[in-house]
Amino acid sequence: MHPSSFPKSTTASARILAGLVAIVAASTPTNAQPRPRVTDEVRPFIAVDAPMVALTHVRLIDGTGATMRNDQTIVIDGTRILAVGPSATTAIPVQAHVLDRRGFTVVPGFVGLHEHTYFGGVQRLTQMSTSAPLLYLAFGVTTAMTAGSQLPYHELSMQRAIDAGRTPGPRLLIAGPYLDGPESRNPMTRALTSDLEAQRVVGYWADEGVTWVKVMGNMSRARMGAVIRAAHARGVRVTGHLCSVSFAEAAELGIDALQHGFITASEYVPGKKEDECPPDNMRVQSNVDVGSEPVQASIRALARRGTPVVSTLGVYETFAPARFVMDTAALAMLAPETRREVEEANARLGSAGGLTVSPGLLKSMMRWERDFVAAGGLLGAGCDPWGTGYLPGYGDVRNFEMFREAGFSAETAIQIMTYNGARILGMEHDVGAVTVGRQADLVLVRGNPAVSARDLYQVELVFRAGVGYDSQKLRAAARGLVGLR
Ligand SMILES: [Zn+2]
Repeated sequence: MHPSSFPKSTTASARILAGLVAIVAASTPTNAQPRPRVTDEVRPFIAVDAPMVALTHVRLIDGTGATMRNDQTIVIDGTRILAVGPSATTAIPVQAHVLDRRGFTVVPGFVGLHEHTYFGGVQRLTQMSTSAPLLYLAFGVTTAMTAGSQLPYHELSMQRAIDAGRTPGPRLLIAGPYLDGPESRNPMTRALTSDLEAQRVVGYWADEGVTWVKVMGNMSRARMGAVIRAAHARGVRVTGHLCSVSFAEAAELGIDALQHGFITASEYVPGKKEDECPPDNMRVQSNVDVGSEPVQASIRALARRGTPVVSTLGVYETFAPARFVMDTAALAMLAPETRREVEEANARLGSAGGLTVSPGLLKSMMRWERDFVAAGGLLGAGCDPWGTGYLPGYGDVRNFEMFREAGFSAETAIQIMTYNGARILGMEHDVGAVTVGRQADLVLVRGNPAVSARDLYQVELVFRAGVGYDSQKLRAAARGLVGLR
């Protein structure tokens, strides 16, 4: 039974078939989400709110890695996808609200795995409780794992506000505060001094509703093991921006996702000592040949172990003075004072102090990720907004352009940003692909991003669980707010 075999009519048999599809669909999801509440507060952002919607004559990149298909029709029934198939043969129920979108492309809602809600890397580190959910959703991020919180209660409140329909935003999975070893100098992190403390802190945040935690680069293997055991005992997953612990060691400990890829993999630093973060990590990698056998062997081992990696190529490009060009539309989202600071910092990029990424290192990062995927590794993607001028939503789309540059096909790049992310979150039966039965999280884009990657910025509508948000209105509401709220 395939939806494209529906007769193009609303005969009784088609209705029965559709009903069967709906029953099958209803029995498969594991993380079923209710339809977002449409209140007076979010109504101004909503362009489509109908019980049944048909998007007709669109190109489709469905997130599974399958080849892009032309002239497709997608039928949304409530929160779910009821049918996907060629427009010529896919039945459109009479009650459906039809949107004819020739010249547009549909991709699944993005599943972002490094979606901070604070704006760091600037003098006045601020929470983006208002602007982040708007910008993520505006650019198609419908599921967002925050990968480290500055103010965890702000994120938990944001999640409640989104669920209650007080603000539009993605489905949030909150990672709680950063966890690190006792020597941590970052005031934002919880420096753990014992395994018992690790257990207590992880348990506390699990009780508060956190579903991921993030470990940082100055933690011993033993302590990281304690964090991972405590988290897994509570059904919480662990991700990390590592240094003292290598990728291979963290994989062995059972970490659930490694952030940033090649540039942070400390096993490539010559003379690295156990449980120590080498100061030249993230720099010395520029001298490492990704094609060399030891690196290739480490990539194969990681892929074989099944430990996922989260790509954040776009944010590292912002540290590459030779390449980074600030997006003027993104700059308009910054509060005036923050904008001045970001522009000044960018003018200084590459001068003494601070992280500098060479174009060669960026190329190596791209190669490493391509080889990791080729070896069967599970690669997802995340934004990692930062004060270099890298913003929620914009950064997620920038990753797509970087994946294309890295040599991934448009279909694989979209798969990395959607279905793979859903797999890493354990939500792949529910979101991450435009297929029958999955939640209707999808992005409608003007143009063809497979031909011109920049077209992916031209988002018209974002559907989350069947409700269609107006991207331009979401962007307009965030203008001037990043660096403020
Ligand atoms: Zn980060």
